[in-house]
Amino acid sequence: MTEMKLSSAEAIELENKYGAHNYHPLPVVLNRGEGVYVWDVEGKRYFDFLSAYSAVNQGHCHPQIINALKKQAETLTLTSRAFYNDQLGVYEKFMSEFFGFDKVLPMNTGAEAVETALKICRKWGYEKKGIDENQVEIVVCENNFHGRTTTIISFSNDPVARKNFGPYTNGFVKIAYDDLTALEDHLKNNPNIAGFLVEPIQGEAGVYVPSEGYLSKAKALCEKYNVLFIADEVQTGIARTGKILAVDHENVKPDILILGKALSGGAYPVSAVLANDAIMEVIRPGNHGSTFGGNPIAAAVAVAALKVVKEENLAENAERLGRIFRAKLSAFAKENSLVELVRGKGLLNAIVINSDEESDTAWNICLKLRDNGLLAKPTHGNIIRFAPPLVMTESQLNECIEIIIDSISSF
Ligand SMILES: *Cc1c(COP(=O)(O)O)cnc(C)c1O
Repeated sequence: MTEMKLSSAEAIELENKYGAHNYHPLPVVLNRGEGVYVWDVEGKRYFDFLSAYSAVNQGHCHPQIINALKKQAETLTLTSRAFYNDQLGVYEKFMSEFFGFDKVLPMNTGAEAVETALKICRKWGYEKKGIDENQVEIVVCENNFHGRTTTIISFSNDPVARKNFGPYTNGFVKIAYDDLTALEDHLKNNPNIAGFLVEPIQGEAGVYVPSEGYLSKAKALCEKYNVLFIADEVQTGIARTGKILAVDHENVKPDILILGKALSGGAYPVSAVLANDAIMEVIRPGNHGSTFGGNPIAAAVAVAALKVVKEENLAENAERLGRIFRAKLSAFAKENSLVELVRGKGLLNAIVINSDEESDTAWNICLKLRDNGLLAKPTHGNIIRFAPPLVMTESQLNECIEIIIDSISSF
């Protein structure tokens, strides 16, 4: 049998016709990836500046991760948690030591891990903090992005993500991001608050970096009022921002840590929630679970993916290249009126285009970048996120900066 080879137009047509329209992809059809590069079906090569929303920090098809995946896939794929397997405990010990928490609860996707953290927090609120039945509240931030489940979109304020998906889950209080006064006001006046869920940098919202000291002061407030500090590091975690975790920039140790995306280097859906015993012990058999959570492939892949992060010094590389990226693009922004500003940390950066949110300028810039061999996508209207794989070299980065500057200059 000969393999059918689709053109880009045919592949797009198939997705349009047979797939639900829950995304609006940039028109490019990829069929191969290696390191910082992806190729389309016509053979054109691109720098990947999205990295699957920071899932592919270790680069596409990293050989160590793919070897772990292949080896485990040929040996044992799934037992469910009805039985033990020989990979899960090894992975959990590795995770516990890597991130410095007593225990790990393995899940698959980021949204599931967020849900898990919320459940742990609620149960802790009743059983450890002594909040009355059904009264626990959790503080979240405006413009958050934590995933797509019914509960999570209940506390989103993005109308596109929310509208007509009600009735919504109760028990969440929304405050402004990067606002310690608002946080303390709520913690002080509401003894039913059990947790504060926060992204150390708001990625989806447009790479909003909070003021220096925000995270450490928020953590101190949480301690003062006996509230769990829950860090959603699904996007910011695992070397993306120049440290293993974004909270490491302020030496903050969350009470509950949520990881996903790059935990597998993009090879497999792997997410996790970490906490110390005093918190995690509220979860007992039957309270929570997932058929695929903690499966042997996920465990083997995640260990390999984390080893790559350490061995290849990806956090240091992200820190160093991120500084170069922001310095060069900030200089460019000063002379080009289309770029309002550049912001970010490590290799999680964004440029804000000087146009209103409804304008299609940012989208058109992304089409131009694509034509010039670099893939990125607007987050919200006029903001373009730039998040390449962290295995990028300095000379590759400089080549990319040239592509970005040339593309924007042509407008
Ligand atoms: C992507 C993301 C999620 C959701 O992860 P999924 O795997 O898509 O469910 C949650 N939180 C943050 C901060 C994210 O960036």
